[in-house]
Amino acid sequence: MSLRNLPAVHGLIGLLAERFPELPAQWLLEAARTSLEQARHAIRSHAAVPSTKQIVAHAVDLILQRQQPPLRHVINATGVILHTNLGRAPLSAAAHQAIITASAGYSNLEYDLAQGERGSRNSLLEPQLQRLTGAEAALVVNNAAAAMLLCLSCFAQGQEVIVSRGHAVEIGGGFRIPDILRQSGCILVDVGTTNRSYLPDYTAAITNQTAALLHVHASNFQVLGFTHEPSVAELAQAAHEHQKLLICDLGSGALLDTQAYGLVAEPTVAMMVQAKADLVVFSGDKLLGGPQAGLIVGKRQLIDQLRKHPLLRALRVDKLTIAALSATLLAYETQRASSEIPIWRMVTSSLDELEQRALPLLAQYPAAELVATHATIGGGSLPGSSLPSRGLALDGMAEALSKQLRANDPPIVGRIQAQRLILDLRTVLPEQDAVLMAALAALDPA
Ligand SMILES: *Cc1c(COP(=O)(O)O)cnc(C)c1O
Repeated sequence: MSLRNLPAVHGLIGLLAERFPELPAQWLLEAARTSLEQARHAIRSHAAVPSTKQIVAHAVDLILQRQQPPLRHVINATGVILHTNLGRAPLSAAAHQAIITASAGYSNLEYDLAQGERGSRNSLLEPQLQRLTGAEAALVVNNAAAAMLLCLSCFAQGQEVIVSRGHAVEIGGGFRIPDILRQSGCILVDVGTTNRSYLPDYTAAITNQTAALLHVHASNFQVLGFTHEPSVAELAQAAHEHQKLLICDLGSGALLDTQAYGLVAEPTVAMMVQAKADLVVFSGDKLLGGPQAGLIVGKRQLIDQLRKHPLLRALRVDKLTIAALSATLLAYETQRASSEIPIWRMVTSSLDELEQRALPLLAQYPAAELVATHATIGGGSLPGSSLPSRGLALDGMAEALSKQLRANDPPIVGRIQAQRLILDLRTVLPEQDAVLMAALAALDPA
């Protein structure tokens, strides 16, 4: 085909308009131009020249692509349960439904139905969080970083905050404790050393400029060997003897005993409350398995002050988060967390179950093998904890296979290990197996 034989733009637009009568003419024009431009380029560079049919198909593809939402549902076969790049915690069916219900119409977001007057979004989740953590009061904001910013700005602006050198850490995604302190207008006073800090290190640093002691839970790293740090209870007691606050950044925010699920021990929120931390901050979408949110629980009088702080208006959560978080918390209250919350379903699925699910999948791709793998919690939670798991190892060009699966609808993301593409089944929910099955059947091993 030569340049002169290429279909005319208006002809191509006509064909596209038959297929997409409802779409804006500008979209069709742009797709037609792009597809023709690529054909011209192929002719000029003596590459394989597309047929008219291919030129049309390419334009159709461009139009379909433009209608894809930028944020897409993805199947996580990486074996990393809280995969930060894949959106951390998937929501439970109940949380998902709660979002649909709360968003489809109006809601009592800031309306007291009993009194018929203005209410507050900030008190909707408090009763559940009180019951689950034993705290006097609770408040929810956009994420844990926002929660820290709010607590520090409210109680320590212009004053000193004492932090162990072992706690002045980077959590990931640009969240560094020293930066958040600076942003909150606090003066960081670091004490102890990276591996060892003692109670007297803290108490010796307390002055009349001190507002708070800050304890940061090592949620995404481990310091092993020759280490020491005072317990939260000891820190709380020391802080209170000097009329100072103890703020505890717990990060992952477990509400249940992780050891009961074969994972390493993780302090629960209730334990921190019991240890008398004044404020405990944790994430909604890590070990809690809910939506992105920053939860603050602690003393009534402090939470009331946070509620009046002007920053809260900028950091508040929207109704969708409140709906999803409440449904997630209800699963904990009714002891259904491990059967309903996806991350706990993933943690608790047995090797036997994973193997049973693997069998029909293996049959779809000739060169696949069942392999033992290790799944991790990820998402800056429970470092050093891995779960034995099972996956499919696919023979063939790992990069090419990976690319094909990422182009699937929905995309499937695995991991490459020893030049083989591995699809770990622990992070794939059983209800996604059918999609995986179809994608494997269509996979070109070339
Ligand atoms: C993850 C984490 C944060 C940040 O939580 P986000 O909800 O992502 O803002 C803060 N502190 C600790 C200790 C964490 O592990």
